[in-house]
Amino acid sequence: MERIAIYGKGGIGKSTTVTNLSAALVKRGLRVMQIGCDPKSDSTINLTGGKRIPTVLEVIRDKDKETRLEDLVAIGSGGVLCVEAGGPKPGIGCAGRGIIAAFEKLAELKAYDVYKPDVVIYDVLGDVVCGGFAMPIRNGYADSVCIVTSGESMSLYAADNIASAVRSFGVRGYAGLKGLILNKKGIVNEVAIVEQAAREIDTAILHTIERDPLVQEAEALHQSVLEAFPESPQARSYQALADKLFDCEKAVGRAICV
Ligand code: ATP
Ligand code: MG
Repeated sequence: MERIAIYGKGGIGKSTTVTNLSAALVKRGLRVMQIGCDPKSDSTINLTGGKRIPTVLEVIRDKDKETRLEDLVAIGSGGVLCVEAGGPKPGIGCAGRGIIAAFEKLAELKAYDVYKPDVVIYDVLGDVVCGGFAMPIRNGYADSVCIVTSGESMSLYAADNIASAVRSFGVRGYAGLKGLILNKKGIVNEVAIVEQAAREIDTAILHTIERDPLVQEAEALHQSVLEAFPESPQARSYQALADKLFDCEKAVGRAICV
């Protein structure tokens, strides 16, 4: 099982990227679990036909010790295992603690033994890397981290912060930084700007995703781009990202990859 955390500034395109990455990986025959670590709990919404799934925190609040794994894991499009960690009520409590509680519950109920995902992808808001949001990096929940950014300075600033957090925890053997995913915003000299930023934080651009109105069209259908427009260049781009991030044959150890 490989666990990857996708971080980035609010609104930068994390959930879109993660959703399409999950869709691309299940197409390759991998068993994928996508865990939304954002109190908004909308990470997986385009894998569930627009239907909000109950969050782990909501279910725990509601059912406490009666919580069953099936209450927490929804089967989304293509078989993606969808989980939303959820968050505390706005203004009360720390969202990061919510993520911790959700992770602990999944472990307690042996979610990974039961569902046996080949890949677990965390979709994590990383504007400010507070202790709670750094959970996937620092407590051994993730093996690696990718950061979604555009050429806008605020998203590069967030990328720099996230990279520093990864580095400071990395020395203890936790997740390492795989690199940046450039999700283009249409800024002049965008590739050069992000390449320069990548050099400054001692990493590289793993993949570049173009801006494409098909993303919104797919969203309107509550689908991933891979599901709605499988033959489009945008779908191929997400597939290429998936293939760069995961060696399918190695990940599953069986020759099912298509
Ligand atoms: P949040 O921090 O609020 O959870 P996010 O980082 O998960 O945000 P998304 O919800 O994935 O961001 O994307 C924000 C908006 O940008 C969405 O409306 C999405 O349609 C759009 N978007 C993301 N990537 C692209 C792209 N490559 N082309 C066109 N639109 C995009
Ligand atoms: Mg999101």
